[in-house]
Amino acid sequence: MTTLTKTEDAPAPTGPESFLSVRDLRVQFSTEDGIVKAVDGLSFDIERGKTLGIVGESGSGKSVTNLTILGLHNPRTTTVDGEIVLDGQELVTATDKELEKLRGNKMAMIFQDPLTAMSPYYTVGRQLSEPYMKHMGASKKEAKDRAVQMLEKVGIPQPKVRFDDYPHQFSGGMRQRAMIAMALMCDPELLIADEPTTALDVTVQAQILDLLKDLQQEFGSAIIFITHDLGVIANMADDLLVMYAGRAVERGSVKEVLGTPQHPYTWGLLSSMPRLDGDIDTPLTPIPGTPPSLLNPPSGCRFNPRCAHTDKVAGGLCTSTRPPLADGRAAACHLTAEQKQAVFIDEIKPRLR
Ligand code: SF4
Repeated sequence: MTTLTKTEDAPAPTGPESFLSVRDLRVQFSTEDGIVKAVDGLSFDIERGKTLGIVGESGSGKSVTNLTILGLHNPRTTTVDGEIVLDGQELVTATDKELEKLRGNKMAMIFQDPLTAMSPYYTVGRQLSEPYMKHMGASKKEAKDRAVQMLEKVGIPQPKVRFDDYPHQFSGGMRQRAMIAMALMCDPELLIADEPTTALDVTVQAQILDLLKDLQQEFGSAIIFITHDLGVIANMADDLLVMYAGRAVERGSVKEVLGTPQHPYTWGLLSSMPRLDGDIDTPLTPIPGTPPSLLNPPSGCRFNPRCAHTDKVAGGLCTSTRPPLADGRAAACHLTAEQKQAVFIDEIKPRLR
């Protein structure tokens, strides 16, 4: 691991009894075009039994963060700096063997597309039971019993029969359920769900989300839920982290962030999203421009090229100085608390009706 030079401050929140603690995480990729600063000074905590939602556009660093937590990044092209502590164990400096063991029985991931996570050449049952035998030291029979039990728990009909099916013999919704069963086989204490329901129709999506909530109650797992869908987050998460261009820009409880958002990027996300309870005549307002290249990101606040409020900040701070993200409920923006409140009430709130 190479240690990067810490160039900008990113204060760490203080979690009461965090099960997962991420501190000043920095992830960079070497590419032919240069160094991509995919995650730049990210800090957050999760307690047991809680769900943290992470939202942001493509390229905001949310998936990279979670692949790094799991140790699934390519060590030849990726440099990771900072701290990731899971239940007292440091992961950034952990060996491949230690990470593999943790991925088996302490943390697991539900991917967006089960076809990329499941092998087409092995039966669903085999893919569920083999890791269980390996990580839990179970016999073949014990592993099969457990797999059948988990398939049943996630709502697969005739689980004993479907155990011997291949992934292509399952419907999309069933494959997603089977992948959730696979992720939960060893009772992981940390579950990372990356857009787990994006590819599914709305009815199946609702069933899967209910299932995740039930399973969390049963197993007490901490969940990181990555999505671009704020409606899903409102339904699923306790806390919310908004990411933009590799940095956290706003954090708080879901109620706080969605009810009284404080960051111009969060305002943009909410204003561009249709609301079921909204006024049908209220037009959606897309965020102008596109996310920046992380090969050469903007200086200061990375949102500054797209922000409509830079003229309210004196001294050119938006382009010169990274706005810090304070502890607890906070937004990384140079606007004063009074300015944020005034803009939200006068300009943003009327758009969200
Ligand atoms: Fe906009 Fe400046 Fe706040 Fe960044 S710091 S969100 S550019 S007002």
